[in-house]
Amino acid sequence: DRFLEISNLVKAYPNPFGAEVKVVDGFNLTVRQGEFISVIGHSGCGKSTVLTMIAGLNPISDGGIIVDGREISGPAPDRSVVFQAPCLLPWLTAWGNVMLGVKEVYPHATKQQKKDIVAYALSAVGLAESMHKYPREMSGGMQQRVGIARAIALKPKILLLDEPFGRLDSLTRMELQDVILGILDRDQITTMLITHDVDEAVYMSDRVCMMTNGPGAHVGELMEIDFPR
Ligand code: ADP
Ligand code: ADP
Repeated sequence: DRFLEISNLVKAYPNPFGAEVKVVDGFNLTVRQGEFISVIGHSGCGKSTVLTMIAGLNPISDGGIIVDGREISGPAPDRSVVFQAPCLLPWLTAWGNVMLGVKEVYPHATKQQKKDIVAYALSAVGLAESMHKYPREMSGGMQQRVGIARAIALKPKILLLDEPFGRLDSLTRMELQDVILGILDRDQITTMLITHDVDEAVYMSDRVCMMTNGPGAHVGELMEIDFPR
């Protein structure tokens, strides 16, 4: 059961002197459908690089990423990302920010269907009452709830969480962890979380992998620990 299959993934950037430096070198990972996996590791070990390659936002230097049997090429709504900062459009309400992506991804849905999708996503993150608020009227936690709603409204096959709570205070962080777990309980979306917070990884995921780095970054099996949810 290989819903997400990453094999021998490589990312090289040119250094200031023009030489290629591999920041990810032979990364392998297989994720089952519906599984929640966390990838932990020190800052700079390449977690974000891997996640943005899965999202199709960062070109792959070598290797392959297969999602549900198909090699990815570029970004697509089947892989939605929640970033550390939600980057909401300030002139749109919570509703408008979520609707924007829905219109783009479901151009043929009826008006009512689009409204239903947005309403569902906003209520799933607990923003049913605040859907007409603008970003400036919302706390950081509320803004990130919109970011989560925007991602799940696209009904992704894989939800990619890139340090999604990094900027939040610890209480808000705990609330949002549970918001996401609540959504996944209902919707069973295959999820990858990258974080440097071990407690968060253990609390949230079915499986935790440790990404290491160093000269000639490790290749083989990720260090893996199984935690019952
Ligand atoms: P080995 O001992 O066989 O070299 P390890 O057991 O140390 O391998 O685990 C290496 C795993 O770490 C690989 O599967 C790879 O997916 C992962 N990994 C961690 N950091 C990196 C990185 N920067 N680039 C590529 N793979 C990495
Ligand atoms: P993490 O998410 O684990 O903190 P990143 O994936 O952000 O790590 O970064 C991995 C390494 O790649 C770091 O050494 C970083 O400096 C380097 N890197 C990231 N993006 C670029 C880029 N656009 N150009 C050159 N180097 C980069």
